[in-house]
Amino acid sequence: MIVTESKNRKIKICDQILEEIYSQIQKNDYDPEKGGIIVGRENLNNENIILEYISKPLKNDICTRTRYTRKDEGHLKYFEKLYNENNGVYAYWGEWHTHPEDIPHYSIIDLKNWKRIGKEDPKGVQYHIIAGRKAFSIWRMQKGKLCPKKICEVKWNEINL
Ligand SMILES: [Zn+2]
Repeated sequence: MIVTESKNRKIKICDQILEEIYSQIQKNDYDPEKGGIIVGRENLNNENIILEYISKPLKNDICTRTRYTRKDEGHLKYFEKLYNENNGVYAYWGEWHTHPEDIPHYSIIDLKNWKRIGKEDPKGVQYHIIAGRKAFSIWRMQKGKLCPKKICEVKWNEINL
């Protein structure tokens, strides 16, 4: 799937990412939130980016009905491995997690978390995905901006997975 963020930037989200996230959505009343990091690369010739890999919940993460907390060091190891095996082509681009609601909205805790990440990440921009039961959305978090900007909301049944 390709999202046009602006005149200068398109974002390609690889099908494998969407398939993996869709397989983790909270279909049942008892399903906990799931999440991980998003890894991608920037096109060399323009500002387009390709989101290509995600990590999935690991043993030391905290997954409750209404909260996912990434705690396991394996997520960063997963990124480092991709980075090292591909000559530094890949970068960390953001976080994804599920929500037990049809159309996802970010929570105050999500916002706090995204702001903290924004301060730590030298790139200055991240893309975060929240996956609800009927749709997922992507928000851009940009350094110096107070609020994340929603760049798309896509219904799961509108894409072919
Ligand atoms: Zn959340």
